[in-house]
Order: sequence, then C-alpha cells, then structure tokens
Amino acid sequence: MTEYNGYVSDETIEGADSGLLAGRTVAVKDNISTEGVPTTCGSAMLEDYVPPYDATVVERLKDAGATIPGKTNMDEFGMGTTTETSAFGAVENPAAEGRVPGGSSGGSAAVVAAGDADLALGSDTGGSIRCPAAFCGVVGIKPTYGLVSRYGLIAYANSLEQIGPIAPSVESAAELLDVIAGPDEHDATTQEAPGADGSYAAAADGDVDGLSIGVPTELLDGADEAVVETFWDAMDDLEAQGASYHEVDLPSVEHAVEAYYVIAMSEASSNLARFDGVRYGQSGGYDGNWNESFANAREEGFGEEVKRRILLGTYALSAGYHDKYYKKAQDARAWVKQDFDEALEDADVLASPTMPVPPMKRGESLDDPLTMYLADANTTPVNLANLPAISVPAGETDDGLPVGLQLVGPAFGEHEIIRAGSALA
Ligand code: GLN
Repeated sequence: MTEYNGYVSDETIEGADSGLLAGRTVAVKDNISTEGVPTTCGSAMLEDYVPPYDATVVERLKDAGATIPGKTNMDEFGMGTTTETSAFGAVENPAAEGRVPGGSSGGSAAVVAAGDADLALGSDTGGSIRCPAAFCGVVGIKPTYGLVSRYGLIAYANSLEQIGPIAPSVESAAELLDVIAGPDEHDATTQEAPGADGSYAAAADGDVDGLSIGVPTELLDGADEAVVETFWDAMDDLEAQGASYHEVDLPSVEHAVEAYYVIAMSEASSNLARFDGVRYGQSGGYDGNWNESFANAREEGFGEEVKRRILLGTYALSAGYHDKYYKKAQDARAWVKQDFDEALEDADVLASPTMPVPPMKRGESLDDPLTMYLADANTTPVNLANLPAISVPAGETDDGLPVGLQLVGPAFGEHEIIRAGSALA
C-alpha cells in the first residue's frame, strides 16, 4: 500500500482485454460497490462488508478494459473536507508535505497525484471531488446531477451527489467521464444527456477563443489572499488565450453552506438508518433488547463526525423543526439554482477558486467542524444547483501549495467546462 495511506485495500480487479481504458489503472473510492471486494466507506461499521454486486460505474470500467488497482481511503461515509475522519487513518497530501489532501475523496486524488493510479473515481456531495483535486494539484469533475449512475454508490446525501473522475489532465478526466456517463436502468435519476455520446475527451481542445466567463464576486470575497492571487494569474492566462471575463452576482450563495449542511445531514440521517448491525454493519450483539443492540452497533461502528451529522439531521427533520430548518434550506436551494441560471444567461461558464483556502495543515480542522464546513463555500452551491463543475490546477501559492480553479457550466454543459479547463491543464 502507500506511505501516505491512499488505499484502504489494494486487491486488484481486472477488466476486459480491450476497450477505451485498456492498459490503464483506475482507483475507486471505497464507497462505490465492488462485487466480492470489501467496500468500507472509511467506516468501522462496514469493515467486513463485501458487496454482492458491482456499481454501474465499476461495470463500465471493467467493460472498458480498466484495471482497478485498489479501493481508496475517504472521510467516513464522505463526511469531511480533509480525509482525516476515516476509521482507517488520515491520508497525507503527496503534493504538499504536512498538509491534508482535501476530502472526502482524498485517497482518490492522492493516488493520482502520487502516480499510484492513472485515474480515479471519487464522489462529490458538496465538493468531495473538486476539493481534493484542488488540494493535490490534479483535475476533478463533478458531473451534472443525472449524468452518471449512482447505482452501487453507498448514499450519503443522494439528492446532491454524483460520481466523477479525478485525473492528471483535463483530457484524461474527460476520457474517464466518457466511459461512465449515460443513462442506467438501475438509477431512475439518470437521463439521456445531450452530449453523453463519447465526445467529452474531444472537447478538451483548449480552444477558449471568444469564451465568456462570469466571475461571482461572492466566491472571491472571503477567500485567502494567496489563493485569490493565483486565481487571477490563471484568469489572465485564459484571457491571453482569447477568453473574456466579467463580474456576476450570486447573492444567494451566502446561504449555500448552511442550506447544504441542513439538507446533507437530513438525508444522511435517513440514509444511514440502515446501518444497525442487523440489516448492514457490525453486529451490536443481542441481549433480549433490539434497541440496545442497534444502539451498541451504532455507538461502536460510527465515528464522531458521522454521529454529529445523524443527530443534527434527525433534529432538522423532526416534527417541530422541519419547517424552521429543512423547509428553509429547500427554499434557499431553489434560490441558489435560480441565481446560477441567471448568471449563466450572460456567461458560458462561471469561474472561482475551487477552495477559498490552500490545503490546511494536518490535524488543524478536526476540532473545529464549523471552520471545516465553511471551507466548502465555493463547492456546495454547485451541488445545490445540480450543475456540472471542474477543478483544474491554477498554479501554486508562493509557499508551493496547490490552488484549484473551479469552472461551473449550465446543466449538461460538460463540454463547455472541459473545453475551458483544458486551456489550463
Ligand atoms: N465536505 C462536504 C461534507 O462534508 C462535502 C463532502 C462530499 O462531497 N462528500 O459534507
């Protein structure tokens, strides 16, 4: 395995002899089901869980001839921004010593950054592909909701999340997207998308001549100075290649983080109810009382962050508070969607720093969950709006820390963000 702890397991899964990905390795995040190979979600609860079937994306990887070199480490059930909440230990950032790799798909980004896999799959509920891609200096794509099947993805917050590629270049990320995109009869939220015809890789032609880019001022306001500087350098680069940019307003994004966490935790509290030691998960024993048995299983199997979210989510959904929290968050979500739609009427894509901060020092964020949640300010609005986004390396700060640039497109506008991103990486 790796010294930076990128893999939870390194059992190899062989794909077909030929295909688009023949000869290439694609590491898979450990919340994506692999038949006969343990899938832990980074949790002690699922330490011994072996799925009886492959996720649709895994089937497609195998059909395309890819080799899966292992399952990658992650924040427990995808809940985190640093890949420090895994029951199997934190992941280190191979691109920035002493720093976190971002999360929750930190293992996937780390193995690609370190060259221990050619490509990887992550999942993105509120930034979990784009954040680690940005922190590890690689490329990550969060597809439009409904482009990629979630069948076999162990759910955290299913109205927000998508599986997507992490890769060293925009073109290779797009190649992987070509393989996994498209409708699936096992996931009724997938749809026939205009453009999901194997042409994403061809869109990575670097041609940004005439491209109109909107820059939401709200996503730069609270960001770290060194990050903002690196962002503008990359924007100058795009301008020199023929793109133009103008400022846009997204007033609703001020409420995105709070709306995201209410919705994500509410859905999580419901989705994680199945881990009770009877249906799924480590047994809590049985002493004549099932309530105690379930409580034991959940007390022992879940880590602190997961417990915090189940409690808060249950609270937000409870009868007396539903209107005050959950319903308000849904209203904010509709507002965020509307803001993005309006901004994208006058721009082909929107650009911002992927993360408002450079990779944090290891160990810094665990005691301060609120600060960690706020780091998701630029990524969570995109999930609330169900739009596609890519994170590409924008450069490094003076201290040598990777900075990512995020490009957001209209629904099913993957070609636009891939084309624009490929002008940088
Ligand atoms: N950091 C966010 C969270 O903890 C996003 C995680 C994700 O996208 N899975 O919820």
